[in-house]
Amino acid sequence: MRIGYGYDSHRFEEGRRLVLGGVEFPGETGLKGHSDADALIHALIDALLGAAALGDVGSHFPDDDPRWKDADSSQLLESVVREIRGLGYAIGNVDATVICERPKLRPCVELIRDRLSAVMGIGKGRISIKGKSNERLDDIGAGLGIAVHAVALLEQLKN
Ligand code: MG
Repeated sequence: MRIGYGYDSHRFEEGRRLVLGGVEFPGETGLKGHSDADALIHALIDALLGAAALGDVGSHFPDDDPRWKDADSSQLLESVVREIRGLGYAIGNVDATVICERPKLRPCVELIRDRLSAVMGIGKGRISIKGKSNERLDDIGAGLGIAVHAVALLEQLKN
């Protein structure tokens, strides 16, 4: 078994749509980024790649590459999962904590788990998503952006 850890943060930017875990939050301010800036998926990708010692989201999908401009991060996650499976790993589970003052994540957690279950091709019971406020501390607490921590466990099925 192998464990991986991922972290991502993005600042809010007016005029962009907010997408977290592949789910759109209508009416909420979006995040600045080269792709769709889905910080939750980026942290999950880094956790998965980290567990397999395969680098990170930036080395796989450079943010100066026009191919990934406004990219749908769900598709990036799908391709990382495919790569990891191709190396003989199965995803044991993933667990992520999304830290922001808004939006409130809890009402959308089940929707996000359903979406990630479909994208990653694993059961919903293997996916945990938690939302937390930063209790108004630091820049995240001041509502400037969103930070996400994630861990992933991989099981090696073959060498
Ligand atoms: Mg990112």
